[in-house]
Amino acid sequence: MAVSLPDESSRLRCGHCGNLTRFDVTRTVRSREYWHASLSGEVAVEEHEVLAEQVEAVTCRWCSASDHVEVVSRPEFGGPSQETPGDGGV
Ligand SMILES: [Zn+2]
Repeated sequence: MAVSLPDESSRLRCGHCGNLTRFDVTRTVRSREYWHASLSGEVAVEEHEVLAEQVEAVTCRWCSASDHVEVVSRPEFGGPSQETPGDGGV
């Protein structure tokens, strides 16, 4: 199942165990960074812009399910705020 990442009004939820907070996200990111080096050569990345990304897998850290992770609303938009397994958020 292709998984998209949540935006400002949504979040990830594991539909299997109810986990809302801990996920492994595997993604390929094409990005551009502004590298600002000091005169001694130490680099600080001061800007990081994502040009394109491909989410390959989102896996629950609690139960290791990778095919039950869904995107639901955040609590202030009517989504779940408790990590309960079962039918919440569907
Ligand atoms: Zn889970």
